Amino acid sequence: MDKPIQGKGFTKWNGEVWLSDPEEAHGFLANWKVKEVLHQETSDFQEVAVIETVGFGRALVLDGIVQTTARDAYIYNEMITHVPLAAHPEPKQVCLIGGGDCGAAREAVKYPVVERVDMVEIDPKVVEVSRKYLPEVAGEGELDPRIQFYFEDGAAFIREKKRHYDVVIVDSSDPVGPAAALFERPFYETVHQSLKEDGIMVCQSESPMFHPHMLRKVHHTLRELFPVVHTYLAAIPTYPGGVWSFTLASKQLDPLKEMEAVKARLQDGQNRYIDQGLLEGCFKLPVYVKELFR
Ligand code: SAM
Repeated sequence: MDKPIQGKGFTKWNGEVWLSDPEEAHGFLANWKVKEVLHQETSDFQEVAVIETVGFGRALVLDGIVQTTARDAYIYNEMITHVPLAAHPEPKQVCLIGGGDCGAAREAVKYPVVERVDMVEIDPKVVEVSRKYLPEVAGEGELDPRIQFYFEDGAAFIREKKRHYDVVIVDSSDPVGPAAALFERPFYETVHQSLKEDGIMVCQSESPMFHPHMLRKVHHTLRELFPVVHTYLAAIPTYPGGVWSFTLASKQLDPLKEMEAVKARLQDGQNRYIDQGLLEGCFKLPVYVKELFR
């Protein structure tokens, strides 16, 4: 590789290029050996890169942090999408905030009942680059016409457009930079207002091991606003610690109280991670996670 090495997280070491993703508070460093930097640019919002890794295929990197890889993106995208869509009996109108890699949007349109997915991504470059370099995640050819793109801040979109949704999915990056507001109470209040009477929201709520304070904050804040709140987990090798959390909040419907109907609605024909058993099991939490919510 003879391109100059620049950008957050990239270093040259013993003639090899590595991307380092630190969890500084824990003195923990994940290192990715980079076979090739396929794309690198600074957008209006962040540094956007695509790398070829050694074992995980291509990876989308934002501000030096690996967001998704060709090898395990399906786990995150199936979990953030199928759980709320199966939990709702008729998820016709869906809003997806963030999710620029397009993986979650592609999962959402696997539900024939879905009529529209408003995909609100702040950074058009993430969509452009994912569609160009990450076909395993973003798909090839035309996207399903039910997916409508809005290149805007998700918090402002929800606050100002005042549309009403059955399901809102917050597929954001970590709570720094443009995504920070998506982890705060004012945003959740407007999501609550944008949901119909039986509406459901889900957000990615970070690692229970590396970011327990953030998970606790998200869970408790949602509990102040919604009568039903459940955190669920998935094993995602790409993310630090390998265990990732999602938190579902519902105005009325409790998926745990009608699990047989929820499982029956799951579209699992092509899934590689979630099936009916896992859908039920993902809500069973280890004691150290349950302790966060007391
Ligand atoms: N699956 C990945 C994960 O959890 O790490 C990441 C999903 S996706 C790449 C996250 C997206 O959220 C990014 O493309 C980023 O541009 C977008 N984003 C961040 N802040 C946003 C905001 N305020 N409004 C809309 N999209 C935002």
